[in-house]
Amino acid sequence: MIPEPKANSSPLVWVIAVPSPLHRVFEYLPPSAAQNTPQPGARVKVPFAGRDVIGIFLEDRRSELPAATALKCVETLLDDDLPLLGSDQLQLLRWLCEYYLIPHGEALQLGLATPERKGRPAWTAEADHIAIRHGTETINKIPVRATKQRAAAQFIGEHTVPIASLTKAGFSAAVVSALIKSGVAERKRAEPPAYSPQPTVNLTDAQQGICSTLKAQMTGFKPHLLEGVTGSGKTEIYIECIKEVIARGQQALVIIPEIGLTPQTKHRFEAALGCEVPLIHSGLTEAERGRTWAMARSGAARVVLGTRSSVFCSFQTLGLIVVDEEHDPSFRQQDHPRYSARDVAVKRAQICNCPIIMGSATPSLETLANCDQGRYQHHTLMQRPHGSALPDISLIDTRGLALSSGLSDEAINQIRFALERKEQALLFINRRGFAHSLQCEDCGWVAGCQHCDSSMAVHRTPPHLSCHYCNTKTSVPTYCQQCNSNRLSSRGIGTEQLEILMNRHFSTTPVFRIDSDNIKNMETLSQALDGIASAESAVLLGTQMLSKGHDFPRVTCVVVVDADSLLYSPDFRAEERLLQLLVQVAGRAGRSSLPGKVLIQTRSPDHSMMQQLVERSYTDQARALLTRREVLRLPPKGAMGLIRSDSKQEKDAIDFLDTLREQLPIRDEVRLIGPMPTLMTRRANMYRYQIIVHAQTRRAVHSLLEAARDIGSQQKLARKVSWFVEIDPTETL
Ligand code: ADP
Ligand code: ZN
Ligand code: ZN
Repeated sequence: MIPEPKANSSPLVWVIAVPSPLHRVFEYLPPSAAQNTPQPGARVKVPFAGRDVIGIFLEDRRSELPAATALKCVETLLDDDLPLLGSDQLQLLRWLCEYYLIPHGEALQLGLATPERKGRPAWTAEADHIAIRHGTETINKIPVRATKQRAAAQFIGEHTVPIASLTKAGFSAAVVSALIKSGVAERKRAEPPAYSPQPTVNLTDAQQGICSTLKAQMTGFKPHLLEGVTGSGKTEIYIECIKEVIARGQQALVIIPEIGLTPQTKHRFEAALGCEVPLIHSGLTEAERGRTWAMARSGAARVVLGTRSSVFCSFQTLGLIVVDEEHDPSFRQQDHPRYSARDVAVKRAQICNCPIIMGSATPSLETLANCDQGRYQHHTLMQRPHGSALPDISLIDTRGLALSSGLSDEAINQIRFALERKEQALLFINRRGFAHSLQCEDCGWVAGCQHCDSSMAVHRTPPHLSCHYCNTKTSVPTYCQQCNSNRLSSRGIGTEQLEILMNRHFSTTPVFRIDSDNIKNMETLSQALDGIASAESAVLLGTQMLSKGHDFPRVTCVVVVDADSLLYSPDFRAEERLLQLLVQVAGRAGRSSLPGKVLIQTRSPDHSMMQQLVERSYTDQARALLTRREVLRLPPKGAMGLIRSDSKQEKDAIDFLDTLREQLPIRDEVRLIGPMPTLMTRRANMYRYQIIVHAQTRRAVHSLLEAARDIGSQQKLARKVSWFVEIDPTETL
């Protein structure tokens, strides 16, 4: 029998996750006014490190600390009704902090909308609508001389209308309040959004087949990969599955990689489903985010569309998760807390016991490996609807060619032909600005960034140099800082330079430049997309902003201006990335009935990847890459982790890792590489060093990283460096 705790031994405490970088939870005494123990997931206000913070209640227990410790009291319980974090969210977030080795408090915050994290009440709809009470006959009770009130009441009729619409129709605020005061009308909240699914396109047999297979499996946890070439109609399949889930009274979450894709995608889903599809992404105001969060939590939102962070949203009954473009590197959060939204989504589906569909034209090797192992079901859609052909890809060997602003004559001619046919051309270049760098022709000096191991890019509008890593900007020097020569010239083509060239060649054709200098927010992006949609012939040029997901039906010619800039990288994922990028860019061509042509300019036409791009399907090439990973035991055929330390003092960054490595347990199954500098060692004045952890199994890597986290926190230097451990890193440079 377990002995009863002695009456005055350890006190009953509440265990709270507090937003702090420490990897532990904290004990507090219950607030003096507490009647009952709250449910796990409730928010509390607690004193922490000299200020009040919002924490999450996890459980109550007898204190595990020595009795003498003076514990602080919880100040207030904020959610004494229902906790804002649902039990599935709580389970997910606790898993997140264990798996990704992130502090409890930081992980749990992710399950709340921004205003909720600050302790504000959950968003509730304002009563900003008005309706007539007790039926329209009441209108007759309004005195005949109150003509304005009568007219306003007639205007409202049997509906619940926004008060703003009355004002717009010319009724004054006084008339509205008179109606409410006399009891004829009352303030109301907006009706919950309607749902009226629209008939969709006639699915092709291939789409229909996959749809039926998927729909038959819309209960229980089951991960699916929908591999379909760009424009094959994957989105139509998502929509059909979502309808099925909504019909059962459940909700769906659709996660996409790019904030820039949200307006288009929202519009498409809303049109097909006939209901509001609220958004979650970083470009929204706090209030907008709070609203989506509350709508999802209450069940009023049938579908939520969002980027990475939406995977943590609260739902009443989540019945399906869709992750579109699942291969996209932006699903990996590269800042604290580091996690992969795609992998978290799979875990969430498992916890919610619902299916998840991951779609892509270029699935990640991780996901393909999961299919091979029978963990995910693999569906393929290799044809575009109604036979619109996949584009024809060819290489242009640029060795020895005279290029104008990076373009070969052949590329310029093909662009011209497309424009003459009243079609559009898309130019992809991986670099914004006018040029890659500024170099002295006499001594070879390159204008570098003061704060990074990097050259500065040249910009023309307005003229300046800019470091694309730390954002430092300077004026353009006129003399070499090494030999004083004035013969400075720019190297490497950027988007601005191509834009000038295109305007010169095709002066009557609109040119849309899509890069982060030109497209600063959703509004400018929408304008550009609208412009592209309404233009006949046009030139679209830009960085990877253009390569993702957008549907440009009139584009029939795609030029990859400089594939080589992407070809040689020491990262083991570089080939996979390049392959995905090129196939995705190529996929922008000929999506409607117009056939497409893709030209890839390269000085390495004999490189096996370039050859295969022309000759083999993505799937074949991905299989070949997987075999190579198998030989080298690299992920997903092996596991990796890293320990990184950044510091203003190079020595501190190295010393921290050296000492840590000495203290790490030695395990035969784990290989440690480093400490070694990252590829760009100095970035924004921080020296970045790392230890790579490599093993056959993720379990081995994970357990070593756990040890590293605990040992590292004890080190003196831990306070002087900024350091972290990371499991399944996507960037190991
Ligand atoms: P994906 O998501 O695979 O890139 P989409 O679902 O966006 O493909 O489809 C590409 C285009 O083809 C869209 O304009 C879509 O409306 C259209 N489409 C898809 N399926 C069909 C179909 N069965 N019949 C006609 N048009 C279709
Ligand atoms: Zn010089
Ligand atoms: Zn810099």
